[in-house]
Amino acid sequence: MKLGKFKRREFIKISSAFLASSAVAHSGSQFLSAESAEASVKSGDRVVKSICEICFWRCGIDVHVRDEKVYKITGQKDHPLSRGRLCPRGAGGHGLLYDPDRLKHPLIREIVNGRQFFRKASWEEAMTLVADNVKQLGQDYGPGALVSFTHGFGASFLKRLCNSCGIVSAPSYAQCRGAREDGFKLTYGHSVGSPEGVDVANCKYLVVIGHHLGENMHNTAVQDLSLAIKKGAKLVAVDPRFSVLASKGKWLPIKPATDIALVRGWIHILIKEKKYNIDFVAQNTVGIDELWDGVKDATPELTAKLTGIPVEQVVEVARDLARYAPNALIHPGRRANWYGDDTQRARSMAILNALLGNYKMPGGLITQKKYGVPPINFPKFKHPRVQYSSKYPLASKVSSFEIIQHTLEGKPWDIHGWIVYGTNLIHTSANQALTYEAITKLKFIASIDVLPSEITGYSDVILPECTYLERYDDLDDRTYREPYVAIRQPAVPPMYDSKPGIEIFKILAEKMGRFDLFEDDIETYLDKRLKKIGKSLEELKEKGVFVKPETPLYRQPNQKLKFKTPSGKIELVSSKMKEHGFDGVPQYTPHRENPDGYYRLLFGRAPMHSFGRTTNNRILLEMMPENTIWVNEQAAERIGLKDGEYVYLVHENGTRSNNNIKVKLTQRVRDDVVYMVHGFGHTDPRLRAGYMKGVNSSELTIDTVIDPVMGAVGIQHNFVTFSRGA
Ligand code: SF4
Repeated sequence: MKLGKFKRREFIKISSAFLASSAVAHSGSQFLSAESAEASVKSGDRVVKSICEICFWRCGIDVHVRDEKVYKITGQKDHPLSRGRLCPRGAGGHGLLYDPDRLKHPLIREIVNGRQFFRKASWEEAMTLVADNVKQLGQDYGPGALVSFTHGFGASFLKRLCNSCGIVSAPSYAQCRGAREDGFKLTYGHSVGSPEGVDVANCKYLVVIGHHLGENMHNTAVQDLSLAIKKGAKLVAVDPRFSVLASKGKWLPIKPATDIALVRGWIHILIKEKKYNIDFVAQNTVGIDELWDGVKDATPELTAKLTGIPVEQVVEVARDLARYAPNALIHPGRRANWYGDDTQRARSMAILNALLGNYKMPGGLITQKKYGVPPINFPKFKHPRVQYSSKYPLASKVSSFEIIQHTLEGKPWDIHGWIVYGTNLIHTSANQALTYEAITKLKFIASIDVLPSEITGYSDVILPECTYLERYDDLDDRTYREPYVAIRQPAVPPMYDSKPGIEIFKILAEKMGRFDLFEDDIETYLDKRLKKIGKSLEELKEKGVFVKPETPLYRQPNQKLKFKTPSGKIELVSSKMKEHGFDGVPQYTPHRENPDGYYRLLFGRAPMHSFGRTTNNRILLEMMPENTIWVNEQAAERIGLKDGEYVYLVHENGTRSNNNIKVKLTQRVRDDVVYMVHGFGHTDPRLRAGYMKGVNSSELTIDTVIDPVMGAVGIQHNFVTFSRGA
């Protein structure tokens, strides 16, 4: 394929003939319903220890196989992240394995008589085409002409290839927890981590700000929350929506975009009333006086006025935090890209935690460790690296949104090709129009994925990866309170003409003349790594996980602590922020008010879905087939909306949702917001189960405010109204 052959890349649907043949192929049916998961054990059944990939949490799973088919997935008992349990999504993971809509063969975009379509290709042809394009782009435009967008654990081998060839790898970091991580790093010298370094199970007073702990169903986090509730922990949910967590404690229905004002108010009360941990602050922090100067104006009265939370409640929660400290915690949350001042919001929460003195205390912030399996060092890119002059000096990682902007503008980075791994950019990146426009500028797009999606429809080459139940990945050796190393291994061989990521990237590397990046086979590689700690692959395959005895989590009284900040202490006033011209103490800046007749669009997660990754999974769709739009009952009465009716959502710029959505009338949201679960509303007809089910919030996240500190894309600044017309 000649570079830039497609002047205007059309979205390609798969023809009905293809759909019919693939439906017949599955009428057998390899797809197993939830009921089959109840089947009793038979002789000849086997259990394979592996790791879930339905979300990023990576729980240990026991995959139950009968007659070479997966019939049940359960939680591994010895794995610290599952503790014998799984969330509904993990238990329904075989819905992805047996999804009849899976990508089955490599596909290449063709054009005949002006009509664009995908044709089936051999791996040899497809991989040669990808390698030729990668080489050509490098020759024509130099290193950096190509970027990869990645999501998920499976991307580690692609990242190795990228690191060795000068290809920039853009994670979904800045669209998720990036602002939180950078905010905490500026304060404590280290990030929160994933899973989060928080001791929720032993917390006595937990404040959660806009974080859907429980509904996001991250397995161990929910188990820890249940333990805390069982032990009598008091919970406070700060949220414009009455979340599940709010139902277990106190609900503070905050006015959207005023969270920093609330946290500043609490800091004000703790300092003014001298209710902060004076000894801890004196020994381990810098900047308490300057912090007080910075929050002096954040009186309870002003806080109440800005946030809509009654002054008594503002004061009561601040005093309760002090009463239960150091076993009290402001949870750092997870997805943090809200309003464009997210690093400062994270900083404000980090500071408040420091005042409580909860660092390395039961129920507070904790640090975590890796098991520590040494890596095998592969060659890194040797040539002078292209200067990636990120606009955001305090960003730990480049934002994928920034890369989309550079692709569009052609500067300062001259990007001409994308490799997209496991992320549906059209649904995950804000401002779809921008993504579509960037696509038209590209000379080449390759997608590697399990399912078709909106982005694969715009690709030049599609490479079908097999699912996590059919492949090995690298060892899972990341930080956790109980350091562990776990294995993902195939429970069944790859179906159709799909391949594991490691094979795809090894072939690609070799076609690019790089024979030094991958071992001959994955088992040799994993065994070699494990030998470095005196273990073997055979042993890990059998056990699934090695866990180190629990390391001490809590600090000793008067223990001297060291932090990797410029001052070596917790920075209540950030020296780095000041150095780069930002406020050392987080300030509150008012955000836009709702335009007349419009509602702020908020979105979140449901326990049975992981965004768009699961909204074609027939097992999980049985539990939640579509999303709904939550509308406050009084607001609905004013505008005449009825419970259960279907409406279109219309952005204030006139953009209307592609599909309609069912109205859910409730008292559980403020009357100035509407709320929906993200990930529904696929517009790719190849996703036959999820096609046009509900609405995708990304279609309406058009206005963005970029965090000037690290580039997170604030997407909760969009306002919608309703339309009944088709
Ligand atoms: Fe899988 Fe659920 Fe664990 Fe996520 S939380 S890895 S979906 S079992």
